[in-house]
Amino acid sequence: GEAITVGELAKQMGVKAAEVVKKLLLLGLPVTVNQAIDFDTAALVAAEFEYEVEKTGFEEEDILRTEEDRPEDLKPRPPVVTVMGHVDHGKTSLLDAIRHTNFTAEEAGGITQHIGAYHVKLDNGDVVFLDTPGHEAFTAMRARGARVTDIVVLVVAADDGVMQQTVEAINHARAANVPIIVAINKIDKPEANPDRVKRELAEHGLIPEEWGGDTIMVEVSAKKKIGIDDLLEMILLQAELMELKANPNKPARGRVIEAKLEKGRGPVATVLIQEGTLRVGDAYVCGVHYGRVRSLFNDRGQRISEAGPSMPVEVIGLSGVPMAGDDFAVVADEKQARMVAEHRLRKQREKELSRTTKITLEKLYEQI
Ligand code: GDP
Ligand code: MG
Repeated sequence: GEAITVGELAKQMGVKAAEVVKKLLLLGLPVTVNQAIDFDTAALVAAEFEYEVEKTGFEEEDILRTEEDRPEDLKPRPPVVTVMGHVDHGKTSLLDAIRHTNFTAEEAGGITQHIGAYHVKLDNGDVVFLDTPGHEAFTAMRARGARVTDIVVLVVAADDGVMQQTVEAINHARAANVPIIVAINKIDKPEANPDRVKRELAEHGLIPEEWGGDTIMVEVSAKKKIGIDDLLEMILLQAELMELKANPNKPARGRVIEAKLEKGRGPVATVLIQEGTLRVGDAYVCGVHYGRVRSLFNDRGQRISEAGPSMPVEVIGLSGVPMAGDDFAVVADEKQARMVAEHRLRKQREKELSRTTKITLEKLYEQI
């Protein structure tokens, strides 16, 4: 809820901060001037000075809350996939191979755009890949409470087998409750031994379907472009089982995949839309920043006017550079967007302040 620092409260009541600190101490609450106290405490101490505290603050949820979706409003959406695996097992090569399946040779030459995610269109469905392979991105997102991945593709080199980061990736995916599809890579190599990889994976609880388990495993070569279509097919199959859905007909919500400051463009964020549809002109709040969508670009750098669920888009028109994992939410107007963003910033500052206070108090006690 809302909070106010002791100093701020004293100022508003026109009394000395030390008086308020003393009152709080008598109430059994040792605090310092810079410390934030919650609404109830503020009301209590204010009453001692014969003041009433009015609740003018708000809960974010009052503004950001959206109504429960009706089942008929939910429409299928593409799966969002993260590629993980041990270093040098071929994550980057696989992402490249997949990306190129969707381009003509001519177009492929022009792929310079990097927005941190891309959208692959297939005959029987679309797939979105997060272009930030590795555990760091995945773990950082999860630490921030962001659940952006529907499926993990675990790359294991057929000539190397299960390694330390392979096991880590399995654990990450399990902890996040995200299904794993295994891509046994480098099968073009003479020393490739897919059966050994399957045995090793089985020891970690990933049993291939052919052995009666339920883990989809596809043999691929990112280098020779073997099995890529099969892998994409399996991803779509897995997605179908998951019945991934979202309501496209409401204000957009999403997560920042990456963000940077670009010369001539200002703050640029790649946002993965998770529900609703984002449109040019929409007012939004993004972490502690806010603004109005000035322009939108897709993963190919083309200007677009709107983006629906599971789509990665570049958003221009932010008040600052947000952090990866930040929540992105469209609100009614820019005034509300600013209110939420400023509220968050205030809360962030209060948190920082109370952290410093705590350290100071601890030091104080040491001296006693
Ligand atoms: P990452 O560290 O997991 O991103 O691995 P990279 O994609 O950078 O690949 C590591 C090395 O393995 C590079 O030299 C690739 O050319 C090579 N490599 C990747 N996939 C294959 C493959 O399917 N076959 C062969 N022979 N080499 C591959
Ligand atoms: Mg790599």
